[in-house]
Amino acid sequence: MSLLLVAPNRNLKALKEAILEEDPNIEIDIWPAISNKEKVNFAVCWKHPDHLLGQLPNLQAVSSLGAGVNHLLNDDGISENTKLCRIVTPTLKEQIADYVLNAISNYRHHTLQYITDKKNSRWEQQYTLLKKNCTPGIMGLGEMGLSVASLLVKNGYQVNGWSNSKKEIEHITSYAGEEEFEAFLNDTNILICLLPLTQETKDILDLSVFQKLKQPAYLINVGRGEHLVEEDLIYALDTETLDGACLDVFNEEPLPAKHTFWNRSNIMITPHIAAVTPPEEAAPIIVENYKRTLSGMELKNEVDRKRGY
Ligand code: NAP
Repeated sequence: MSLLLVAPNRNLKALKEAILEEDPNIEIDIWPAISNKEKVNFAVCWKHPDHLLGQLPNLQAVSSLGAGVNHLLNDDGISENTKLCRIVTPTLKEQIADYVLNAISNYRHHTLQYITDKKNSRWEQQYTLLKKNCTPGIMGLGEMGLSVASLLVKNGYQVNGWSNSKKEIEHITSYAGEEEFEAFLNDTNILICLLPLTQETKDILDLSVFQKLKQPAYLINVGRGEHLVEEDLIYALDTETLDGACLDVFNEEPLPAKHTFWNRSNIMITPHIAAVTPPEEAAPIIVENYKRTLSGMELKNEVDRKRGY
């Protein structure tokens, strides 16, 4: 029995140590060094290489190293019988909420403009966008979306949320399903994407969506790069349908050096860091699900394959 950690380009030593601190008896390999493929029952993955998991004959469960699971659902090599789960921690929820609040603040206070002005020694005051003229609308009211919504409400924003099922949450106006999508957009001017990436949500952030927003309109994408139709974003910025955007996730990561987004003064770019799972919080969750897997129990934060998230 062994546990495999796979995350190319990430240093997984701290995570391995944190897991061993929880339980020193667990045998752990860090990809690409796998001592015995037959022994691996449980893998923890982030952007794992194609075909890797299909080569592990006794794999019983795979955990995403983060909250998103599209990389696991898209892997044909994982057998239907292998359980999938994900890691959601209090810090992850806190970080994503802080990130979005900060992105809204930066937009309202023209931070990107002042950074450019500083480079040119230019002193030019802009009116700060009033809070009462900002209505954040969160696409996806799950673990992350709800955390963001609650921080925004605490900070005095009138918040809308859109999800598959209708929610009853104090101070949040809930819209649900395709039939209420347009009403949600019509009452939103700061659009925040926190949807999982599924067949229904791929390419959802397109021009028709941007055109339905209240003005001035701003986009914050912290879901997945594939939610966004990139050329529609550029067109929406050029036609002033959108005032700007803050992007943490991209179709291709790392964002290629020649990508047009880098040259846009009204696009804020961060390298997929809105919320990152700290090893000391991930470790107990991994160990619990590892033990649950070995004893045939239901996993914590198990992914519903049919639903796709
Ligand atoms: P979650 O708990 O599974 O919640 C997903 C939410 O999306 C739910 O409210 C669900 O509605 C809604 N939803 C799903 N499909 C929908 C559809 N077709 N139409 C309308 N609503 C739909 O997911 P989470 O933990 O909040 O994470 C959301 C996403 O955030 C992740 O998948 C990941 O891509 C992203 N993320 C990014 C970072 C980062 O650093 N940038 C960090 C963490 C997570 P119901 O409530 O009705 O089921």
